[in-house]
Amino acid sequence: MINLKMYIDGEWKDAENRETRPVINPANGEVISYAPEGTIADARAAIYAARRAFEEGVWSGLSAQERAYYLFRIADKIDEYAEELTQLETMDNGKPLREAGFDVGDAAACFRYYAGLITKPDGYTYHVADPMQAMVVREPVGVCGLIVPWNYPLLMSIWKIAPALAAGNTIVFKPSEVTPVTPKKLFEIFEEVGLPNGVANMVMGAGPVVGNEIASHPEVDMISFTGGTKTGKHIMKTAADTMKKVSLELGGKSPNIIFADADFETAVDYALFGIYAGAGQVCSAGSRILVEESIYEQFVERFVDRAKKIQVGPGNDPSTEMGPLVSQEHLEKVLHYIELGKQEGAKVACGGSRIVRDGLGNGYFVEPTVFIDVKQDMRIVQEEIFGPVVVIQKFKDENEAVKLANSTVYGLAGAVFSTDGAKALRVIKKLRAGITWINSYHPTYNEAPWGGYKQSGIGRSLGTFGLEEFQEIKQININLQVEPIGWFRN
Ligand code: NDP
Repeated sequence: MINLKMYIDGEWKDAENRETRPVINPANGEVISYAPEGTIADARAAIYAARRAFEEGVWSGLSAQERAYYLFRIADKIDEYAEELTQLETMDNGKPLREAGFDVGDAAACFRYYAGLITKPDGYTYHVADPMQAMVVREPVGVCGLIVPWNYPLLMSIWKIAPALAAGNTIVFKPSEVTPVTPKKLFEIFEEVGLPNGVANMVMGAGPVVGNEIASHPEVDMISFTGGTKTGKHIMKTAADTMKKVSLELGGKSPNIIFADADFETAVDYALFGIYAGAGQVCSAGSRILVEESIYEQFVERFVDRAKKIQVGPGNDPSTEMGPLVSQEHLEKVLHYIELGKQEGAKVACGGSRIVRDGLGNGYFVEPTVFIDVKQDMRIVQEEIFGPVVVIQKFKDENEAVKLANSTVYGLAGAVFSTDGAKALRVIKKLRAGITWINSYHPTYNEAPWGGYKQSGIGRSLGTFGLEEFQEIKQININLQVEPIGWFRN
């Protein structure tokens, strides 16, 4: 049984009331651990530790080079424990080992990217009217509350923790209660490299209890949240009372537009990857495929044929291509949407059921599912299902493709497949989305900003933008002519 504890002020802790909740392996329904069910008191202890560490300057007072040294060491440790982290991630989240291995590699690279970035030049100077040197410097925000979901338990944590620490903040971090296992290993690494006490704190517990306390507490200066749009809205409202800086990476219903002149096999291949990687539990999933009408039938036929061949199974089986959904609760949500799609009159072209064959019945497996004959106002077209369920729609021309693509409340990601470069770029520029690809789907880079338009969020993760989220901007004006201003008569 994996031992789970919270990490507060440099100590491993159970919940103050000793309560726990089971952590389940989604591939077989077995309990792999019991996570502390943190309370408001636990959240406050973590917040006060982070506040004290920030005020004492044990972290923000270090030079950028010294902080970078810690971050490089953390990256090296992630590499050293890569095999263990990969296994744990698969056990807890369900994703195939291959996907988990990529996440672990990206996690180490993300720490290295921010370790490097923080020592590079930043700030500005300005020419102003007075004999004055005006300049801008960037400073840490203070105590940052970081709340993450269960779909990338390690990577989503690091996308926040690495830039927040690089910038000199102290953190109160809350993993999803469904997937606290690799975050705990990450905090063991923080202890191993000797991060000063109180700099990085981890509380576990229910979102509406512990998460809500982090979002509302006046000693927390900023909230960075990734998860569902509904929860994101709630957090934003809660954080407004204390005017916290807010950064939100929320849901999506992203369009993947395939023109008739696309390289057909490439488009089909990426469209499969776009929706079924991570069993569709990816915020940027290409969950709406829009296909030009002249190749629509041919595309659906080929896509369905390949979707049916996807090898679904436990993540730790090397032959598995798609793992289970993360939890019983989420399985029920996805199955509910499939039923809803049928009731709305859409046609299931393949899949549509839970998988119980070959001993998979104790896990949370769902067939790769394709809906066709959908209408734009159907809920399965408009809402984030967050599972292996895609809708394939038809469009007549460029204008209709753009109109359909943009007509949801979301604006996270989108892609265009075409061999006409000008057309592809023209369409991409009309998409109201923050992350886009041409003739590709899904690749993510530590160097480039990640985040959405519209109800897909506020702010950006990764790249220089991701660091700036965790920084305040200060102007400094230095008078070069030190003499009385003479505004009032002497
Ligand atoms: P949530 O967005 O509710 O959870 C994400 C994180 O927020 C978890 O750590 C959760 O804690 C915490 N949280 C929940 N409620 C609050 C609150 N009131 N205040 C502060 N923190 C809170 O995701 P769910 O797991 O409930 O999934 C719901 C839906 O959200 C999914 O079906 C999917 O559609 C979408 N989603 C989108 C993601 C994305 O990356 N865009 C990622 C995950 C989900 P706890 O562990 O207790 O739940």
